[in-house]
Amino acid sequence: MALQILGDYLNTFFQEEKKALLAQYPGLNLHRLRQDIKLHAFLNGIDSEELFEFPYLPHRRHPFTIFFSKLREGIPLEYITGYSYFFRSHFRVTQDVLIPRSETEILVELALQEIQKNYKNKKCRVADIGTGSGVIGLTLLMESLSPIELIASDLSEKALNLAHENYFNLSYAIAPMHKVQFVLSDRLNNIDGEFDLILSNPPYIKKVKDRLGVHQQVIKYEPPMALFLEDDFYDNWFEDFFQNIYLQLAPNGMSLLEGHEDHLGMLETMALKVGFRKTEVINDFTGRKRFLRLRKD
Ligand code: SAM
Ligand code: GLN
Repeated sequence: MALQILGDYLNTFFQEEKKALLAQYPGLNLHRLRQDIKLHAFLNGIDSEELFEFPYLPHRRHPFTIFFSKLREGIPLEYITGYSYFFRSHFRVTQDVLIPRSETEILVELALQEIQKNYKNKKCRVADIGTGSGVIGLTLLMESLSPIELIASDLSEKALNLAHENYFNLSYAIAPMHKVQFVLSDRLNNIDGEFDLILSNPPYIKKVKDRLGVHQQVIKYEPPMALFLEDDFYDNWFEDFFQNIYLQLAPNGMSLLEGHEDHLGMLETMALKVGFRKTEVINDFTGRKRFLRLRKD
């Protein structure tokens, strides 16, 4: 074990492992790795501009050695550092929740536009179903200029606890006019009342049919209940969900759901059958069908 400068060690590590790393972390580059190491160091109590000039002896219990060995294993960076960046904030993540995806930021943008347009200085009651780390609902609380009453729900108690923790961590950025409640629920089953906005990024991958399209790292490390629905159960699951959304949406309300590009067309037809009058499939930035917007009137 030789003593080196951390920056030099990292350069060599990245060059030597580049092929294997890129297979596990598509798009990874040295810059991103340096940022995550800085975050990892910060979370381990080291906050220095000269971090990469520090001497580093790769002892097996050194926090950086642990970081590098987890990287070699292919554990997602966000689960290694315990944090993920979404919209403008860091959220804590564990393997109990999905790592938030950048396309979900579009769903938040669309919800914010709706709030700005139709709820100026008016209270807006919002449900975030399957809140996971809490990114959708909590970002709305941080960004909305109108008061929001948020119900954030999940079927996973561990996810709900994490969403609660993120609320606590981010509460300095949340205006006191907002209210929030965390509810353990299967879709809308334990949730009462009418909503102006019902938002959800539900599990939407068919366990068998869509499996080939899912990256191995996702299958290996992310919670299956955040991702998959049984193939045979898929249509019923959404029909039941849509019926309850319809019943609990205020007359001028809107629902926004993230979905699978191969199934959003079918889900749009289903929503029309359930009674929604206006439906729209919206693409993500890669041009794939990604969201479904539903209105009653
Ligand atoms: N909202 C987070 C996001 O966008 O990053 C997490 C979305 S993740 C795709 C789906 C979430 O739905 C998971 O947290 C999962 O535990 C939860 N979930 C799965 N089945 C559910 C159900 N029947 N009712 C409510 N939540 C459910
Ligand atoms: N977009 C996620 C993925 O591709 C899936 C998230 C979900 O099922 N809601 O892995």
